[in-house]
Amino acid sequence: MTSESGRPLSVRLAGAGVDRRSFLKFCAGITATLALPAQLAPRVAYALDQADPLPVIWLEFQDCAGDTEAFLRSRNPTVGDLILGMISLDYHETVMSAAGEAAEKARDDTVARGGHLVVVEGSIPLGIPGSCTVGGQSAENILRDAVRGAAGIINVGTCAAFGGIPAAGPNPTGAVRVEDVVGGVPVVNLTGCPVNADNLTATIVHYLTFGEFPELDGFSRPRFAYGERIHDTCQRRGHFDAGQFAEKWGDEGHRNGWCLYRLGCKGPSTFHNCPSVRFNGGTSWPVAAGHGCVGCSEPGFWDNMSPFYDRLPHVATSGFDLTADQIGIGVLAATATGFASHGVGKVVQHKVAARREKKAAAELAERADSEEETENGSASAGAGGEETGETR
Ligand code: SF4
Repeated sequence: MTSESGRPLSVRLAGAGVDRRSFLKFCAGITATLALPAQLAPRVAYALDQADPLPVIWLEFQDCAGDTEAFLRSRNPTVGDLILGMISLDYHETVMSAAGEAAEKARDDTVARGGHLVVVEGSIPLGIPGSCTVGGQSAENILRDAVRGAAGIINVGTCAAFGGIPAAGPNPTGAVRVEDVVGGVPVVNLTGCPVNADNLTATIVHYLTFGEFPELDGFSRPRFAYGERIHDTCQRRGHFDAGQFAEKWGDEGHRNGWCLYRLGCKGPSTFHNCPSVRFNGGTSWPVAAGHGCVGCSEPGFWDNMSPFYDRLPHVATSGFDLTADQIGIGVLAATATGFASHGVGKVVQHKVAARREKKAAAELAERADSEEETENGSASAGAGGEETGETR
């Protein structure tokens, strides 16, 4: 199977100024994000090259459009081109140029063909259906229609996945998550407030490469993105283990980058790959910027994770929050030492994995250079210096 116009993705991207080296580098990076062996990167590249653009309907209900913002601000313009090359974004109220009946027709046509993905942003107001309507249709009706014949649903952000902020008490609109409205279709929950666009890209790449969604946890979240506790890969973890905590905003500990646990950080009870993937092109993430994790990717956010700036004794943390108060310099109990060793081990593992991923990306980039050199040599020899016109 080849893409539209019979042209592989890499060729179409070349026409948009994205060279093959960048394409292969992207494939190596996304393979690493998916926690797949580096040897699978060429398979990912081949699958993406050959796949037809995946038809996508993106629905927005009770949301702030933060996930759309994250999607539009993917890692860099190159990756933005790659995403839009991999999918056919047939309907998205915020970014599509069509309006009114033409927009509705585009959505209905895609549903009629089937095999599409439905991306949902925002919760569904079952209590007051009229609080969120598009074209006179309630969110519930639009959602039910859109998933007919769909290959799957990707819920982006915590509102679509768990109800999120609209469902926080007293939940005036009777907001519910997508899975409370529709069923019978594979569902992936990419939680977070907002979703991390790299995880969305990786999920789509996995689907295009293997024909199925990645392995999921008990909350339908991909394990590659939600398999590890933030606390275990946090850059401040060494300070937690050493009993070094910021006690007040702006104090010496805060200025020195110490652990934010006593300022309310929910990292010990939150599962997400924020510390490794980060946001804004891998620039930073909240804890690196000096603010504790607020647990936005967990069920029950916001109610279960607020107030943000207090430690929450009711949040289950497998003992980490209990030991935090007990840990002090020179007062490490045997149990705490066990947890600390585990934490150090996880950080070391994380660094080793990061180095391995970097190496794989470098190797794939070298392969691209080598291909280019071979290609250029063959072109010169075979065409006697004439331009071949082939684009890679
Ligand atoms: Fe990092 Fe928060 Fe854990 Fe401290 S409590 S190590 S800041 S995740």
